[in-house]
Amino acid sequence: MNYPNTQLLINGSWEDAADGRSIPVLNPATDQEIGRVAHAGIADLDRALAAAASGFEAWRNKSAFERAKTMRRAAALVRERAPEIAAVLTQEQGKPLAEAKMETMAAADIIEWFADEGMRVYGRIVPSRRQSTSQMVLKDPVGPVAAFTPWNFPINQVVRKLAAALATGCSILVKAAEETPAAPAALIKAFVDAGVPAGTVGLVYGSPDEISRYLIAHPVIRKVTFTGSTPVGKQLAALAGQHMKRVTMELGGHAPVIISEDADLELAIKTSIASKFVNAGQVCISPTRFLVHESIFQDFAKAMARHASDIKVGDGMIEGTKMGPLANPRRLVAMDEFVQDALKSGANLLAGGNRIGEVGNFFAPTIFANVPLSARLFNDEPFGPIIGIRSFDKLEEAIREANRLAYGLAAYAFTRSLKNANLLTQGIEVGMLWINQPAMPSAEMPFGGIKDSGYGTEGGPEALEAYLNTRTVTIANI
Ligand code: NAD
Repeated sequence: MNYPNTQLLINGSWEDAADGRSIPVLNPATDQEIGRVAHAGIADLDRALAAAASGFEAWRNKSAFERAKTMRRAAALVRERAPEIAAVLTQEQGKPLAEAKMETMAAADIIEWFADEGMRVYGRIVPSRRQSTSQMVLKDPVGPVAAFTPWNFPINQVVRKLAAALATGCSILVKAAEETPAAPAALIKAFVDAGVPAGTVGLVYGSPDEISRYLIAHPVIRKVTFTGSTPVGKQLAALAGQHMKRVTMELGGHAPVIISEDADLELAIKTSIASKFVNAGQVCISPTRFLVHESIFQDFAKAMARHASDIKVGDGMIEGTKMGPLANPRRLVAMDEFVQDALKSGANLLAGGNRIGEVGNFFAPTIFANVPLSARLFNDEPFGPIIGIRSFDKLEEAIREANRLAYGLAAYAFTRSLKNANLLTQGIEVGMLWINQPAMPSAEMPFGGIKDSGYGTEGGPEALEAYLNTRTVTIANI
């Protein structure tokens, strides 16, 4: 299968780095080098920044209607090219091809939703206290955006930022993940081919630390948006604060799943297995801390172990694979550390717990029961295919445990009772709560966390607000 080398996108043209530097891209299923990605230096960044400034002027001066037309053309191209884009995504990231196709098709939906929503960015007229004065509230694009995106959903993480920025009239310079560079490049190429003005969208790769420091501090950049780990998010938010830049942070999570005694157990099991092992658990909203009522704990744990052991793990390009490799060797090391720590803590290993084979980053779907609260698995984000299960007696106790960590991204619950659903709704401190169903993020619903999981949201009209300045104009008749 063809896998392309990835270049930088600067001022509308695809280029190698000025100094010719590039770094390898590995297939996580085979450990083989499949291509290379250009590694930008400061000279490249300077040109990309100048282009973002001129691209902003060109784009903001188009009408929202024109912008929406271009964005819809890009969405159509993404849909048309989805089979090729998905194959590239699977080769560099590892996820099964069916998941890669879904991610690509979802990107087209997201672009279209934001294209339309961009036409509904209104200001307002506010009645004045004086007859002779008129008061207006105006919404303007914040300016060139610097976006930093990770490797777990190489397309989805970019498109949410890209679509919201473009819908509001901003330009955007993306630094996507070096480990998964070609899928974001294919996404962005659809916008170039759809006719966005040169510089309106840029794409760079290189040293994440060097690029983020340079871009965030640079006067051209007016807004910073990052998806990734909480420690890096805090570092970037602090830097943005020093330079008074607007910020959206979509960071780590440690999602609790509360299964109450009146839950539909079959639904809870089926949903939990499917949600946990999608993308090999490398998902910020991945369900991880399972809190199960003691009356159904044994049945739930046994069924989860059985289903987890049945999951077909393999190369995402092979038909029938249900879970691919972890995206990079760092995750294998991390998984082993979680497993060793859980074993030492006295938790019971019910399934998996080991790497599979010697080639590729394959790790078995892993289930621990009776995990002590002190175990790392119940405190640090595993970001991989590991579940920990504990029992509880009273729902209040489970809600307290759900809120114990500093994370506040996603939570799940299963209950047939309206009273419990209300208690959970009022009590759980997260940005997103799903009851009796898997996570179903969509463009029209806000997506984001609270507490250490970040701030700002990447869906719904609120996502556009993040890219808009509010100004007021008051005119007195003379
Ligand atoms: P990491 O924390 O080093 O990197 C996470 C992401 O941030 C990567 O895409 C990386 O390129 C980027 N990054 C790192 N340092 C940066 C910097 N100084 N400036 C700009 N970007 C920077 O860890 P990792 O090993 O790549 O990923 C592991 C952890 O990251 C996981 O445990 C998980 O918590 C988190 N993560 C979260 C998400 C998410 O969707 N929220 C996605 C990927 C990774």
